[in-house]
Amino acid sequence: MKTIGILTSGGDSPGMNAAVRAVVRTAVSEGMKIYGIQHGYEGLIEGNISEMNVSSVSDILHRGGTILKTARSERFMKEEGRRKALDMIETFGIEGLVVIGGDGSYRGGLELSKMGVTVMGIPGTIDNDLGYTDYTIGFDTAVNTVLSAVSNIRDTSSSHQRTTVIEVMGRHCGDIALYAGLTGGAESILLPEKPVDINAVCRKIVQGINRGKLHSIIIKAEGVEMGTQELADIIQQRTGQETKIVVLGYVQRGGSPTARDRMLASKMGDKAVQFLKLDSTSKAIGITGNEIVAHDLADALEMKREFDETALKIVDVLSI
Ligand code: ADP
Repeated sequence: MKTIGILTSGGDSPGMNAAVRAVVRTAVSEGMKIYGIQHGYEGLIEGNISEMNVSSVSDILHRGGTILKTARSERFMKEEGRRKALDMIETFGIEGLVVIGGDGSYRGGLELSKMGVTVMGIPGTIDNDLGYTDYTIGFDTAVNTVLSAVSNIRDTSSSHQRTTVIEVMGRHCGDIALYAGLTGGAESILLPEKPVDINAVCRKIVQGINRGKLHSIIIKAEGVEMGTQELADIIQQRTGQETKIVVLGYVQRGGSPTARDRMLASKMGDKAVQFLKLDSTSKAIGITGNEIVAHDLADALEMKREFDETALKIVDVLSI
């Protein structure tokens, strides 16, 4: 393969830039021509495409967001839009396309691959919700952002002797809540994968108060069926302790990527180009254990995420 394209799509995540840098510089070192496509699939349809070189990705390794910009494209969801995208791919002579994004972006990539395009997926999402890979690029940075917020909130919660419910991102996958909760010492963690046990949450707070504990931190993923305010109201009413809520929101999507995310992005970017060089089947790049791996793109999307039950049990024991 001599000419490839790269785009970032869907929700952005810290480390996408590091992945773009790795793909561009590896491609150039392999003697390939590489086109950057702006604004995801929308830019592909529009032909918002220009050639990149080693300097195009200078000084971006440490920056959050994506220099290629990202978008959600309604047009690409329809056959007509995808035909236009395919026309552009042919117009620019792009033989393989690197798509950095989440589950939705991969599904879009799979549609393109059914039309004969070789697609290489790199998992860029803070949610860590792709079943075929242990980690996605941006997850570690998001967890550390939440962790830093938890530490700050803990100080003030302790001074005021209150309970704080912190809502974090995660509509279907509670990994951000689980990792930040475990490492931040939360009293309880509420995840979309588990039904809410309000009795257990309140029991823990009451027991804590009776032991002289000054504050409690509850971390709740946004996808949990009970509303955050409703949860706080019930806790306050049942425990008698003032209960505040903090919704972290988009602060979790930005920031300079951690070393771990930069490492993941660099290794995955390199691997994506190596595979494009070797063969023309569409793949999803992931990490299993400590090894960078590739799965068939369609198979990767079918793989179910295994929820870390052990981590949740540890939280229960340690947060006494
Ligand atoms: P993410 O990649 O972060 O999960 P989205 O779910 O918003 O983000 O998907 C990003 C884009 O991928 C969508 O705006 C759309 O253009 C494309 N896409 C998503 N699902 C499909 C699909 N089933 N078929 C074709 N394109 C899709």
